[in-house]
Amino acid sequence: MSQNMDKCAGGERTWTMRYRVWRNEELPEEYRRLLDAARDAAGAAYCPYSQFAVGAALLLDNGEVVRGANQENVAYPSGLCAERTALFSAGAAFPSVAVRMLAITAHRVGETEKVLAAPCGACRQVMAEVVRRQGRPFDVVMQGAEETIVVKADDLLPWSFDF
Ligand SMILES: [Zn+2]
Repeated sequence: MSQNMDKCAGGERTWTMRYRVWRNEELPEEYRRLLDAARDAAGAAYCPYSQFAVGAALLLDNGEVVRGANQENVAYPSGLCAERTALFSAGAAFPSVAVRMLAITAHRVGETEKVLAAPCGACRQVMAEVVRRQGRPFDVVMQGAEETIVVKADDLLPWSFDF
């Protein structure tokens, strides 16, 4: 691997990703409010197979909050993550309104502790296209038991698919 790198004409390059980490008790109000909506949305999760309830809430430019929860199916790939449930729902109801922020919370069924859940690759790809479509990035806010991470959606998937 390193021998091949030496012959690589373009040289080695680096991808840098910036994100912010907040202690939950110090979280700004705008994040807290949207995370509360995501937590509420997780109550509508249908997750008999994973027992892992995920809630997502989108804040749109027009002030609307669109919620999503994971929806599983016995034919596993037929289900959908909370993030895409919310993003596609917003796209269908408000096709020309930009996404400002996406909050994600998760917990195991029967437990109250928050589990930090980063979006899967397919959700990251959908987020990358939402960013391209609206022409500006949005914040993704992920909450765990102690800390909350805030990252730009398009930073979550370097070299996302596009053609
Ligand atoms: Zn996903």
